[in-house]
Amino acid sequence: MLRHPGGCGDDGFLTVLSEGLVLSGIAMSIAGHTRPASGACHEISHALDLLYPRRAASHGEQVGIGAAFAMHLRGDHENSRIMADALRRHGLPVVAREIGFDDEEFVRAVGFAPETRPGRYTILEHLALSPAQIKDAYAEYVASVGG
Ligand SMILES: [Zn+2]
Repeated sequence: MLRHPGGCGDDGFLTVLSEGLVLSGIAMSIAGHTRPASGACHEISHALDLLYPRRAASHGEQVGIGAAFAMHLRGDHENSRIMADALRRHGLPVVAREIGFDDEEFVRAVGFAPETRPGRYTILEHLALSPAQIKDAYAEYVASVGG
């Protein structure tokens, strides 16, 4: 998905997309929960939904930003940029400002995100960043993806 040059009008792209969705469904079925396909990306999206219920963007847009930022938090800045480039190639948002949230609002959501899925262990729970650390990491992410 990240490196396929096609778009939604391209059968090859749609095949790769469909296979990815089916495989993640199979992984969730085998695991008996959504963890294989729902990590920090989804916690961030759920936090945006809960904190700003009337302003939330689409699930996919929020999760896409969350996924690229989570990759950045893992220290894999190259793959974070590859994810951001793929989102841009498909006309999707890469930073929170593009879906109507300022940096402070997004940072607040990231800090709240672990509360949305108690017991789940993602990069957010692993790092347990302070609000100031999240702010710095997000500013670094925005600079890294050219937001
Ligand atoms: Zn989802």
